[in-house]
Amino acid sequence: MVDEFSTDVYYDADADESILDDQTVAVLGYGSQGHAHAQNLADSGVDVVVGLREGSSSREEAETDGMAIATQSEAAAQGDIVVMLVPDTVQPDVYENAVEPNLEEGDTLQFAHGFNIHYGQIEPPEDVDVTMVAPKSPGHLVRRTYKRGEGTPGLVAVYQDATGAAKDEALAYAKAIGCTRAGVIETTFREETETDLFGEQAVLCGGVTEMMKVGYETLVDAGYSPEMAYFEVMNEMKLIVDLIYEGGLMEMWDSVSDTAEYGGLTRGEYVIDESAREGMEQILQEVQDGEFAKEWISENQTNRPSYKQLREAEQNHDIEDVGGRLRELFDWDESAE
Ligand code: NAD
Ligand code: MG
Ligand code: MG
Ligand code: MG
Ligand code: MG
Repeated sequence: MVDEFSTDVYYDADADESILDDQTVAVLGYGSQGHAHAQNLADSGVDVVVGLREGSSSREEAETDGMAIATQSEAAAQGDIVVMLVPDTVQPDVYENAVEPNLEEGDTLQFAHGFNIHYGQIEPPEDVDVTMVAPKSPGHLVRRTYKRGEGTPGLVAVYQDATGAAKDEALAYAKAIGCTRAGVIETTFREETETDLFGEQAVLCGGVTEMMKVGYETLVDAGYSPEMAYFEVMNEMKLIVDLIYEGGLMEMWDSVSDTAEYGGLTRGEYVIDESAREGMEQILQEVQDGEFAKEWISENQTNRPSYKQLREAEQNHDIEDVGGRLRELFDWDESAE
């Protein structure tokens, strides 16, 4: 344990994998997270069964990987720990049809994201543990780092502790998939869900793409060439973000020209001004009061009309055309793979 952080961080020595010795883990879904959890667990000596729906396109891959495969219901019945690694939007259905009828007293229902529990879309019975083990990384990295003897950082949370052993079990699981090699932070379902949604809407996915599109449109509307606009506001983003990822804001400022640094430090606030701050506060408000969740759940119940429309508009934005053509020039760039 390291004390410099504002929260507890757990490493290998803080977790006892033997807790999993006499348990079966049912991994439902074999996508990004599912394939990585299942294989890392198996390599750690844990008894794993992968639950797949009828006609799943992942069956062949799971078979090739040597996994024990069952239907989602059978897997949930066999599992002492049932891990929900199907997409968040289908989890309520899978829970109702395959999991709930097969949960026994003392079982664990485990998640990698808190949405469905936090917003009441899944309401587990009181006699099971409800936990979260969430690698802070896409599945292929969870798998690749594990094979190298390393791991990706992760989160653990306990929503319901019926047995009194929920946290120790979650830490054991985090160890078995490699996360305690890198460090695991304790959080709550509420904190994980709300910060995740806020981050992807305000900054990562929503904020960054809007900034790029508005930057592109500003240049093109002023008569500059779309190709130049694409390079300046989209293509170069990766270089900047890589520097920040590696060494923080100062490594980025140190690497760009002094002109870029002075211009950025003085002009960034023209764009991200008080109104941007208010926009972020509104996003957080709608995440916290459940308005966003309600809207997204209803989108999914009505075949996603707005989602489809917005997606099509995004696809048809000029920056996608121009970018598609220009990215072909970078075919040699292995970092783009
Ligand atoms: P995914 O979309 O990669 O995989 C989903 C799996 O579920 C696939 O095997 C798919 O075949 C199966 N599936 C799809 N539709 C289904 C349906 N209707 N019924 C049954 N099975 C179906 O999912 P993922 O990205 O691995 O996400 C799983 C969980 O992990 C989610 O809760 C997600 O929020 C969380 N998570 C994901 C990441 C990530 O980087 N991908 C990171 C941390 C947490
Ligand atoms: Mg069971
Ligand atoms: Mg248990
Ligand atoms: Mg998310
Ligand atoms: Mg430049």
